[in-house]
Amino acid sequence: MASAALTNIPLASLPRISQGKVRDLFPLPDMGENPTLLFVTSDRISAYDVILKNGIPTKGAILTLLSAKWFEVLSSRVPGLKHHFLHLGPPASCGLTADEQQMLRGRSMTVRRLKIFPIEAIVRGYVTGSAWAEYEKTQTIHGLPQPAGLKRCERLPQPIYTPSTKAELGDKDINISPDEARGIVGDKYASRIEELALACYKAGAAYAEERGIIIADTKFEFGLDEETDEIYLVDEVLTPDSSRFWSKADYQVGREQDSFDKQVLRNWLTDNGLKGKPDVEMPPEVVEKTKGRYTEVFKLMTGESLEDALARVA
Ligand code: ATP
Ligand code: MG
Repeated sequence: MASAALTNIPLASLPRISQGKVRDLFPLPDMGENPTLLFVTSDRISAYDVILKNGIPTKGAILTLLSAKWFEVLSSRVPGLKHHFLHLGPPASCGLTADEQQMLRGRSMTVRRLKIFPIEAIVRGYVTGSAWAEYEKTQTIHGLPQPAGLKRCERLPQPIYTPSTKAELGDKDINISPDEARGIVGDKYASRIEELALACYKAGAAYAEERGIIIADTKFEFGLDEETDEIYLVDEVLTPDSSRFWSKADYQVGREQDSFDKQVLRNWLTDNGLKGKPDVEMPPEVVEKTKGRYTEVFKLMTGESLEDALARVA
């Protein structure tokens, strides 16, 4: 599929309430039910906390269709799980033009609009990244004591819940302990968020491992339906943007692993002294290779090619 990357989502028919690093959110007209949003994933890509100037064509559809798959898989494997996903695409009668619908194809979903808990519910099954840096210094991860002698990228005895703050656009998230997260979300919700995050990670990691992918760690977000006081899994779920995916076949303890998705881009940025710099444009070969890796992980995880999955979307 030779298409240009969609880095901006110009919808004249709906007002936009927010724009994150990757997504644009549009409140949908009140249909007399719970408030809903059109949750649109662009082709924007970020690395080292900076958004690149150009995007990765089809990435928005890959992340959307993969998340939709996970909502289905996790619903059947995590007892009592509620999630924000209602359906792919916009509701039939929300006033989008035919061109707008075509532009959003595969990359939008209708979700419940919820009050987002201001933490990132990270779960780690392996010690890497900022967790490894902390462990090397203090033998703790997010302040939680860990067994001695763990090696870089080693599997933890069991997955651990290691939340962070949810920073505003442009700021960095800060790792915090589960107790600090409890202070932020409140006693009433903290344990259930932790329990759901761990259960979703375990179910997802087991599913991925059968398909040759290790989910080293991931970030979930949760929201509250204030009317019913129920907690929902929201946002994207278990995608290469929100998780570290490693190839099970290439995994070796004691060294860094290549991540499935952004490694090509990260290496190119580092090799060219562009790490963390703004307004960087990726050359076509970096775009193509990165697109290839997202597409490959989609196929491995869902068992279906992106083309086939897109063909089923109206
Ligand atoms: P990152 O993914 O690195 O945290 P970001 O926060 O900028 O970056 P995006 O993925 O670009 O995130 O934007 C998605 C935004 O939508 C997030 O702020 C998320 O909290 C919010 N969100 C997700 N699901 C819902 C929902 N059901 N209701 C309201 N807001 C939601
Ligand atoms: Mg996000």
